[in-house]
Amino acid sequence: MTNPYMPHLAKIIRIIPQIDDVRLFQIRLEDEKIRNEFRHRPGQFVMISVLGTGEAPISISSSPTRTGIIELCIRKAGKVTDALFRLKENAVIGIRGPYGNGYFMERIKGNNLLIVAGGIGMAPLRSLLWYSLDNRDDFKDIILMYGTKTPNEMLFKDELFSLLDRGDIKCLLTVDKDDTGTWKTNVGVVTRLFDMISLSPETTYAAICGPPIMYQFVLQKLIECGFSKNRIMMSLERRMQCGIGKCLHCSVGHKYTCTDGPIFTYWDVMNMQEVV
Ligand SMILES: Cc1cc2nc3c(=O)[nH]c(=O)nc-3n(C[C@H](O)[C@H](O)[C@H](O)COP(=O)(O)OP(=O)(O)OC[C@H]3O[C@@H](n4cnc5c(N)ncnc54)[C@H](O)[C@@H]3O)c2cc1C
Repeated sequence: MTNPYMPHLAKIIRIIPQIDDVRLFQIRLEDEKIRNEFRHRPGQFVMISVLGTGEAPISISSSPTRTGIIELCIRKAGKVTDALFRLKENAVIGIRGPYGNGYFMERIKGNNLLIVAGGIGMAPLRSLLWYSLDNRDDFKDIILMYGTKTPNEMLFKDELFSLLDRGDIKCLLTVDKDDTGTWKTNVGVVTRLFDMISLSPETTYAAICGPPIMYQFVLQKLIECGFSKNRIMMSLERRMQCGIGKCLHCSVGHKYTCTDGPIFTYWDVMNMQEVV
């Protein structure tokens, strides 16, 4: 029997700086067979390991439609990520997964999709964004709302700006304040963007990811707009260890965020006593 905790070796192909303390790591699984068989869904995560430091769960930031390379957008936060940031291109790390449920793509299909991201919350949502754009006919309207504190904190800036010219997505970017004097689009918190669009809550699924304070206001806004709680998908981050539902570290009530989540509907979350 294979050991589920055994990581596969993966080479860092390219490191692309994003903002202070956040980098995009492009990695490739070393074993060709494992690489070819690797499949994930938007919203799933992997456990990454750097020799001698332990493991950390990281969402896959690339779309399942782009195979061969796995992209991880990582903030330097502690033990494992500090060690990762010391590595250079061509270094080898460990990867196991993918784990977790991911976004409910079968349910979203045929509906409008509203993606609301704040700060580093864009990292997991980027996988959903590109998956839906690469399968554009499966969805009705696609709307992206993304906000950061300042222009310098916006992730994937070039990529997201290129969406402003596309006719098949409404891309709304905003910053709380413009400290550069060069910001050409919206200024204000992400909830202000709701005033710029009209939504059909009965035929739309919303996916949100961002800091806790953003959840509070965005959830309130979505409910005011008439969204039912089971059309709102959010990710729960809990400290995880095994990633496969064995160690109980990430349990919330009777759910494990690693296997039942990390994506939950707002309805599920409201029914988890510990989170409420
Ligand atoms: C499903 C999932 C997906 C994620 N995706 C991403 C992603 O795409 N990108 C990303 O950058 N991050 C992501 N994270 C967060 C990332 O896993 C954490 O930041 C992780 O802790 C980093 O590991 P580390 O060893 O570098 O940091 P750690 O050494 O674990 O430290 C991180 C922070 O946690 C604090 N801490 C350490 N131990 C404890 C403890 N026992 N209890 C409470 N706090 C503690 C530390 O003081 C520090 O502030 C994700 C988390 C989950 C659960």
